[in-house]
Amino acid sequence: MKVDLHCHSHYSDGTLTPTEVVDLAFANEVELFALTDHDSVQGLDEARLRCEEHGIKMIDGVEVSVSWNSNSIHIVGLNMDVKHPSMLSLLEKNAQLRHQRIEKMIEKLKEIDLDVEPYLASVIPENGLITRTHLGRALVEIGAVNKMDKAFKKYLGKGKRAYIEGDWVSLENAVQAIIEAGGDAVIAHPMRYRIGATRLDALVNNFAAAGGKALEVVTATQDANQQRRCLQLAEQYGLLASTGSDFHSLDQPWAMLGRCPALPSSATPIWQQWF
Ligand code: AMP
Ligand code: MN
Ligand code: MN
Ligand code: MN
Repeated sequence: MKVDLHCHSHYSDGTLTPTEVVDLAFANEVELFALTDHDSVQGLDEARLRCEEHGIKMIDGVEVSVSWNSNSIHIVGLNMDVKHPSMLSLLEKNAQLRHQRIEKMIEKLKEIDLDVEPYLASVIPENGLITRTHLGRALVEIGAVNKMDKAFKKYLGKGKRAYIEGDWVSLENAVQAIIEAGGDAVIAHPMRYRIGATRLDALVNNFAAAGGKALEVVTATQDANQQRRCLQLAEQYGLLASTGSDFHSLDQPWAMLGRCPALPSSATPIWQQWF
C-alpha cells in the first residue's frame, strides 16, 4: 500500500488547495493519505470530500509546532478528533503565537526596508496561517533574494536578521491533547533538528514518556543511514514508524507527494493499528 501521512495545503505553507493536493495524491497512486497542515485543520473537510471521490483512504492530521528545550520541534497528530476541545485549544494557542511571531518578523524586515505585506495579502486564504515560508516567498517575490533557501540563510533562519524564536505549546501539552482527542502523536522528520545525537535521544525519550506513538522513519529528506538511526530509536523507545513526503509545492520536486520509498520491512507501521 502506498502511504503518505505528511503534506501541506495553502491553509498553512503549501501552495496547492486541499483538492489539488488530493488530486496529486491520486495521480501519484497514494492509497492512504493525511493532510497535515501546520497548526491548522482548516483543509481537512475539503480534502476528505476529494479523497472520497477518488477512493483514497484519508486520516485526519495536523503538524503541531512545539517548543522543547528552546528548540522548535514538529509533532504530527494523526487520526484524532480535530474538534475535540483539547485539540481546538491547542491549535488556537499556536495560531495566536504564530500570528504574534510573524508580526514581529514582518516588523524586523521593515526595519531593513523590506516590505512583504502587500505580497502576503495576496496569497493567504481566509483564516490561513502565515509562516516563515510565506515570508520567504515574499522575499523572493520582491527581489530581496533569488531563491527560498537564501531567504532562510540571510533573513529567516535561526539567528538571522529577521528571526524570532517560536514560543510554541510544550511537547507534553501537544502529545497530551492529541491523545485526549483519541489520536497518535508522531515526531516529524526527526533528523532535521540540528540538536545533535544526545539531545535527539533525550527528545525521543521525553516524547515516548509523554505518550508519543511513532517516529517518521521514511521522509523525503532522510537518507538510508538516517532511516536506520530512526528505526533504532523507535525500537529503543517502543515507538512505531510513520512515513510522509512533507510535500509543500510542485517547485520542490525532492519532496514530491507519494514518492517516498516504502518503510523498511523491519518497521512496524503506525497504520497497522488503525484497521
Ligand atoms: P515556521 O513554522 O513559521 O517557523 O516555518 C517553518 C517552515 O519553513 C517549515 O515548515 C518549512 O516548510 C519552511 N522552511 C524551513 N527552512 C527552510 C529552508 N531552508 N528553505 C525552504 N523552506 C524552509
Ligand atoms: Mn512547512
Ligand atoms: Mn515540519
Ligand atoms: Mn511539514
